[in-house]
Amino acid sequence: MLNLVLFGAPGSGKGTQSAKLIDEFGLHHISTGEVLRDHIKRETELGKIAQQYISEGQLIPDDLMISILDDVLEKEAKGKDGVIFDGFPRTIPQAEALKELLRKRGTDLHAVVGLEVPEEELVERMLNRGKETGRADDNLETIKKRLDVYHNQTSPLRDFYLNEGKYLKINGSGIVDDIFNEIASGLEKKTGVHRKKK
Ligand code: AMP
Repeated sequence: MLNLVLFGAPGSGKGTQSAKLIDEFGLHHISTGEVLRDHIKRETELGKIAQQYISEGQLIPDDLMISILDDVLEKEAKGKDGVIFDGFPRTIPQAEALKELLRKRGTDLHAVVGLEVPEEELVERMLNRGKETGRADDNLETIKKRLDVYHNQTSPLRDFYLNEGKYLKINGSGIVDDIFNEIASGLEKKTGVHRKKK
């Protein structure tokens, strides 16, 4: 069993590196951003609420986000070798809740992969992603708000997980495959779990 959090500012490469981790470590991927975007696309009640927060670059309130994650875990995570949490937690209460959600399922969080990327590079990457994918919150005004939210509400989690001895610091700038190799060897050292193929 290997449960990971992929942690980093918006634009730090969480989605890209998740795709490689799923493939090479055989993990199940849960991206809370993708879960919310799917609700928006399907025009559900939750989608309507989420849209308002996302378009303002703000976080969905903790209680709502935690209950969404609980549901997704219930539906998707049973019988899996482990889960990559991408975009969750984003606040200290969410981190406390994750601990409890995993504990009640008889498991634990094993490592937090922290992708560290300079701010100018984050902005450039998100602007490019916006052009390539049409993702609505990848515009300069919303990007700035999302980075403020990250600094104020999410970045304290770095110390939270450093204190727990779970934080694996990764230089998230450079070539995707090199970053992945740093993650994979760091995880192998930290958790003893090995990738399925090399
Ligand atoms: P992401 O795809 O992870 O960048 O998330 C896109 C947006 O979805 C964020 O800017 C938030 O508005 C919302 N969101 C995603 N995950 C969370 C979370 N864990 N807590 C609160 N809001 C979230």
